[in-house]
Amino acid sequence: MPELPEVETVARTLNALVAGKTIRAVTVRLPRIIQRPEEPEAFAAALEGRTIRSIGRRGKFLRFVLDGLVLVSHLRMEGRYSVCPADEPIEKHTHVLFHLTDGMDLRYKDVRQFGTMHLFRPGEEFEQPPLSKLGMEPLDDAFTVEALRKLLGGRKAPIKPLLLNQAYVTGLGNIYVDESLHKAGIHPERPASSLRAAEWTRLHASIRETLREAVDAGGSSVRSYVNGQGEMGMFQFRLYVYGREDEPCRTCGTPIVKTVLGGRGTHVCPVCQPYRKARGRRPAGKAPAAIPRRMAGDAAAAAADVTSHS
Ligand SMILES: [Zn+2]
Repeated sequence: MPELPEVETVARTLNALVAGKTIRAVTVRLPRIIQRPEEPEAFAAALEGRTIRSIGRRGKFLRFVLDGLVLVSHLRMEGRYSVCPADEPIEKHTHVLFHLTDGMDLRYKDVRQFGTMHLFRPGEEFEQPPLSKLGMEPLDDAFTVEALRKLLGGRKAPIKPLLLNQAYVTGLGNIYVDESLHKAGIHPERPASSLRAAEWTRLHASIRETLREAVDAGGSSVRSYVNGQGEMGMFQFRLYVYGREDEPCRTCGTPIVKTVLGGRGTHVCPVCQPYRKARGRRPAGKAPAAIPRRMAGDAAAAAADVTSHS
């Protein structure tokens, strides 16, 4: 699923391609993508003759600002936009076509069909779902160390699922949470309430640095993500833990361990992100804990060995 950097990249690309253009007509080929208004015909009719002013982002949602309307679009797993001449053959899985007055189409394609589109009067979009449910934007000035700590610091749940919860901080997904926690040296299973002041500071900085670097790189092309121009992001080549199971940690050389936490694949360096669990307690998920724990022990012993010889 595209996360903040990928959606930001798509928004910027679309902004360059279709801002200022006017919608002549809309074709909806898969009604279930359209969530608001309920009738796809009403959706299409409302957009006719509207000019697209800008495309922005809130959380993982695209926000198309038009004259007198706002279109909120979520790509979910596989949704993608493209711009092409209107007479180009329509590819399979193309569900919504925005025909522009300049002879071009803005097309929405979604193999998995999980994407959504909501139409609102300007301003109304922030007061209603899905955007009304979203928490803080991690790149906003209001997202300070104190704000992050206030949001999550009192919670006993593991830090990773809390960071994935869009109601607290929005835009982070599995890739960037794993990366941020690694960069901060914090194990994903640590209860949020156990983090010390210095760790909150590191986590806050890591989240922002990771997201900024990923935005600059055009996002990560994991699975099928491409920006609005069909180009791949480059950040996947700079990932430290995500998707790097059994590969050496870029910091210490220890093999990266993949576990499951809250149903999500979770990537950890057991040396850079140490965690001694309370006795008798099992982590959430499928508990492949024996392997990473043993590896963590081995790696720690190896590290200690190296130290003692140097
Ligand atoms: Zn490491």
